Amino acid sequence: MKIRFHQEPMRGRQNKCVICGSIYNLRQARASVYSQQGIEYGDACPECIESGSEGIRSRLLDNIQRLREFADELEALSSEPMHLPGLEAEFKAYRNRAI
Ligand SMILES: [Zn+2]
Repeated sequence: MKIRFHQEPMRGRQNKCVICGSIYNLRQARASVYSQQGIEYGDACPECIESGSEGIRSRLLDNIQRLREFADELEALSSEPMHLPGLEAEFKAYRNRAI
């Protein structure tokens, strides 16, 4: 893994850290995460950068664990019976929003 800084013209914009999964506000510099092959995976938040190599590895492994658990939950959800709202319920929701 390689991390490179660039100037961030969209300072203050919200961004999601690819390492820990947290939402943070961009500062003046943006830190992007690349594989050894040069593929960009996203950005790293300041806390991850400050945690150093071992901290980054550990935060990434925690995030992977959460993503796996979430994927398992989604998989379980996909095998539940589906109960979609009828058209009338959808119209009712739109009608209530318009008022
Ligand atoms: Zn992070």
